[in-house]
Order: sequence, then C-alpha cells, then structure tokens
Amino acid sequence: MITGKTMVAGVVGRPVAHSLSPILHNAWLAEAGIDGVYVPFAPDAFGFERLANGFRGSAVRGLNVTLPFKEAALAIADKVSDRARLAAAANLITFEPNGMIHADNTDGLGLLGAFATQAPDFDVRDGGMVVIGGGGAARGAVAALLAAGAWRIWIVNRTLEKAEAIAEALGDKIRPLPLNHAASALRDAAAVINATSAGLSGEGSLDVDLSLTPPSAVIMDMVYKPLQTPFLKQARDLGRPTVDGLAMLIAQAVPSFEAFYGALPPASVDVRALALKALES
Ligand code: NDP
Repeated sequence: MITGKTMVAGVVGRPVAHSLSPILHNAWLAEAGIDGVYVPFAPDAFGFERLANGFRGSAVRGLNVTLPFKEAALAIADKVSDRARLAAAANLITFEPNGMIHADNTDGLGLLGAFATQAPDFDVRDGGMVVIGGGGAARGAVAALLAAGAWRIWIVNRTLEKAEAIAEALGDKIRPLPLNHAASALRDAAAVINATSAGLSGEGSLDVDLSLTPPSAVIMDMVYKPLQTPFLKQARDLGRPTVDGLAMLIAQAVPSFEAFYGALPPASVDVRALALKALES
C-alpha cells in the first residue's frame, strides 16, 4: 500500500521500459516490508535536467540513471563521489533534504561484486586485466579495477583515441590498444571484460579470439540481454570461467537500494530468478 510516508525512488532512462531495476528493488522492498516504491521515468532527450531539478528537496529520495543520461547526471550534481568523478558518469543520484543533488557511481562495485559472486577465487591482483570498450562502462570498470588493486590494465577499443583518453585520465598502469591488436594483451590476461555494447540483442558481436587467453582467464560480459552473449558462449566453449552482466546489474543495485531506503536488501529473495523470468518474457 502506498502511504503518505512511502519512500519513493526510481530509475531514469530513455528507453526505460526494458529496465530490470524496478523488478529487483520492488521485490526487495516487498520482502523486507519497507514502506517504499521504485518507479521508472523516461523524460524526453532534453528532459532529464527538468526532471532532476524538479525532484530537488522533494519526497523523491533518489534515482538510478541509465542511458543516455549518465553524463548529464554527473553534470547536474552539486556533490560528486570520487568513484563517479573517476568514471566520468553517474548511475545514482540522491536528493538531499536541503535541495542538493549527490551523484555516485555503483557500477564499479557491481563489477567487483559480480566477480565475487560468480568467480570467487579470482583476485584482480592475479595478472593483467583486459577491459574492452571506450565508453562510460569501460572507464568505470578501469577505475574500479584500479581501486581494487589491479597493477596492469589493458584498455582495448575499436576507436583507439577513446582508449587513449581513458589511459591518460586514469594513469600509467593503463595501456591503450586498438581492438585489432588485442592479441598481446589477451595472452597476458587474468580477466577479460566486455564493456562494449557488442553482443546486445540486435547488435553485432565482438570480434575477439578468446582462445589466446590462458585457460584460467575469467571472461566477463557486461551485456545481459541475451544473458548468454556470443562472447560468453565462446568463453564457455573454451572451458573458461565466466561472469555475466546480470550478476553485475544485481550487485550494482545493492548500494543503490541502501542509499534510497536506508537498509541493505534482504538476501532471502531470489532476484536473479525474477530477472531471468523477465528476460525470457
Ligand atoms: P557506450 O555507448 O558509451 O560505449 C559503447 C562502446 O562499445 C564503444 O566504445 C564502442 O566502440 C563499443 N562497440 C560497440 N559496438 C561494437 C562492436 N561491434 N565491436 C567493437 N566495439 C563496439 O556504452 P556504455 O559504455 O555506457 O555501456 C557499454 C555496455 O555495458 C552496454 O551494453 C551497457 O548496457 C552495459 N552495461 C551493463 C551494466 C550492468 O550492470 N550489467 C552496467 C553498465 C553498462 P567505439 O568507441 O569504437 O564506438
């Protein structure tokens, strides 16, 4: 039941109808018996600022932010966490009672949480990390891996300039490479992370030969629609351990839930099963 005291939060994106976040958060709220609700918002391409400014100092406690508003969310904020600044994007904004907007980025925690869940023996200090991509997700992944103690990260992208810009911004442990010269990085990899949109339903797949990686290399794909991307299928066919994008989505939602509702989500509800059901429908 929605009451006058119901804590309101949500997700803003365009499109947003595909988002699994309302399913996760509302299932956690129901299980925990918290008087809260989590709703989707889809402003038009220029409507994000209007929406976020309108929620300043209101009953809305915060929003998760997805494409294409992650950079706009950072720009509108009065306060920015270090990890959002390093990622150059925000996936979480919270509205303080004094009207200020605080921007944060929990995608990095999501990435590390996904490895902890699905490849628990893996340690980012085990060897070279290979992050493929040049957008906000790749930059956030590099920042999180650095913070977790990675000592060498190859950033591999189709457009080399974007990889070079990330390396320049985040320091000398990061080596940029064009995608068609990824072989040397793959041979040295303890983990390979697809942070591109390749593999998404309707998009092309990623042209990377994972047989070059050591047999122990953990292969991770941020894409979760489909859950088994061609990239993860290639990894599984080679017998490599894998981590999927749904594990990351669920792990990044945990600190968001805590920021919105002041409690950790209950472990007793199987949100992965609920999300899988939604992905199948
Ligand atoms: P961007 O659009 O900013 O970046 C996309 C990147 O993908 C670009 O660097 C682009 O390369 C590359 N790319 C696209 N198609 C191909 C292709 N066919 N071959 C090689 N490279 C390609 O997206 P984001 O960084 O914001 O997000 C990337 C992905 O990560 C998305 O699919 C997103 O859904 C996912 N994601 C998942 C999360 C989760 O919780 N599981 C969280 C955050 C993101 P170029 O620079 O050459 O154009």
